[in-house]
Amino acid sequence: MQETIDLIAHRELRSLRRFTRETGQPTRLADLDLEPMKSVASIEIDEEHITIQYNKSTTRHYNSNVTTQKEWVYKYNDDAEFTEAIRRVIELSRKHLYDMPENVACPPGCAECCSGYEPFVSAEDVQRIADHLKMTYDEVMRDYVVPRPSADNSYVGWLRKVSDDLADRCVFLMGSRSGRYYCGIYAARPHDCGAFTPIGCEDVDTSLPRGGAYKVGSPFRPKRSHRR
Ligand code: SF4
Ligand code: SF4
Repeated sequence: MQETIDLIAHRELRSLRRFTRETGQPTRLADLDLEPMKSVASIEIDEEHITIQYNKSTTRHYNSNVTTQKEWVYKYNDDAEFTEAIRRVIELSRKHLYDMPENVACPPGCAECCSGYEPFVSAEDVQRIADHLKMTYDEVMRDYVVPRPSADNSYVGWLRKVSDDLADRCVFLMGSRSGRYYCGIYAARPHDCGAFTPIGCEDVDTSLPRGGAYKVGSPFRPKRSHRR
């Protein structure tokens, strides 16, 4: 399987290099063994076979050339289910590799997702936010949560917006504009926010640069009257 993933990874080599150059984030190219993928022309998968075709390659010796054209066929005779599983894994790897250069990390200060989505909060989330803000559980529920318990009781509601408009910003979002936004309770943010993946995100503000230094401002502070 590693071999197959390596073969696919070769296609993304240039994108990964560009990603590293633009963001300064390492993509560990040194860990990729690219040698087996140098001449891959195509990978085809049907119900019984995985066929990998290689381009013609020519090895030059000082007095002769040796030309080779290879085709590898892996055969899974009567295990269509296994082959189908492999096909899906490869598709997923491809998708993630395509997405990765653009979306492995959010451009600093984007936070488009902190508007338009309502992170659900569990009782643990509310307690963590309460401890962080030095408030009580009930005060956080009253000021920052729209109570709406889920049927299985895993959530107690979702975080409020700064206005009644659902598309408005999360009440904890700080910063004046895209590129300057930051979460005001980052260390205590709901599990939903921490688990939100940027892979495949279509809301990204594409005008933002991905590199450079980024400073966040002061953390969110509840109004004095809201504190215990
Ligand atoms: S890139 Fe997507 S996930 Fe990341 S901050 Fe922007 S909108 Fe949110
Ligand atoms: S809690 Fe923070 S990360 Fe979550 S939506 Fe609000 S501002 Fe964004």
